[in-house]
Amino acid sequence: MAPWQEDAVIQCGPCAMLPGRKADISKEACFQAATTALQQVASTDMVIYTDGSKTAAGTGAAFWVPSVLKEWSATLPAWSGVLSAELVAIREGAEWAAEHLPPGAGLVIISDSFSALQVVLFGDHKSSSNETRQDIYRAAIRIHQQGGKVELGWIPSHCGVPGNERADKAAGAAAVDRSTLVQHERPSKKEVAEQTEKTTRGAWQDRWNLQRLGRYRFEVEPTLSKVQRIFLRRPDDVMWRRLRMGVARLALWRSRVLREPSGTCAACHAAPEDLRHVLLDCPRWAAKRAALWRTIKLTGDQQTLRNLLTNDQCVTSVKMRVRAIRDYLDSIKRREWVCMI
Ligand SMILES: [Zn+2]
Repeated sequence: MAPWQEDAVIQCGPCAMLPGRKADISKEACFQAATTALQQVASTDMVIYTDGSKTAAGTGAAFWVPSVLKEWSATLPAWSGVLSAELVAIREGAEWAAEHLPPGAGLVIISDSFSALQVVLFGDHKSSSNETRQDIYRAAIRIHQQGGKVELGWIPSHCGVPGNERADKAAGAAAVDRSTLVQHERPSKKEVAEQTEKTTRGAWQDRWNLQRLGRYRFEVEPTLSKVQRIFLRRPDDVMWRRLRMGVARLALWRSRVLREPSGTCAACHAAPEDLRHVLLDCPRWAAKRAALWRTIKLTGDQQTLRNLLTNDQCVTSVKMRVRAIRDYLDSIKRREWVCMI
């Protein structure tokens, strides 16, 4: 169907007008707004309540038709998002109505998902759930061909509207019911992206956990995740990244890369000098290091690379730790080897 024809096929139906944000208003006020919206429905129209539910156990979709006591529900694959479930419920309701609506009668679908309503009414071929959306329009066209009309309306969830409560309960039960058959749906673009990301990251994480190399970096940040943007002055930003990566031109690095004769720490002459040695181990800097830990308020077991260099708030902010580490490196004359700018 051409996009410009869609407006005529599914129209915006009764929508509850809330006097404020849903979180801020009472259940009674929500119920009142929903009831006012539902009073706009003509008595000759058939109302179908739809709902989707996502819990830790799974995903479910359901619709309920009070006038003929028809209930439908299905379990969706666990990876399905709640928006998909809402859209599947709308599609199933519309397809059921296309079969069972008396000729000439109107259909009013009432969803409690504003996102679903937006996808159906205002989405386009680029919508993440476009295929389900197309199915909904195909069902609506059949209803039009029989002389009917289709509206999609919205009411707030969990405010005591019996039809919505019934659909909600059925979807919730389908989400956790292991005995119902799983209805396989085409995944939306978003679901494909999420699953791909999750699987790929999982595979990399497994490899990362078992590696022998790169353990300094692993200690700083064992979990692979999106890079967190930290806003620091340019020199601090460079220093922070090098500290987190374990890259510094200390003695061990210079002996390997620049072929300088010794990789040993010039301060204690007892061990190779790398970042771990400088930051955690070198006995020569014990007093200055104690001052560093005091400044950033980490004691005893908390004094780890992870806590020192995490991008998350760890007792003290990143900015505070950056400043403290910079002062520490200055005091032991090692900063230029970590960050020359
Ligand atoms: Zn040393």
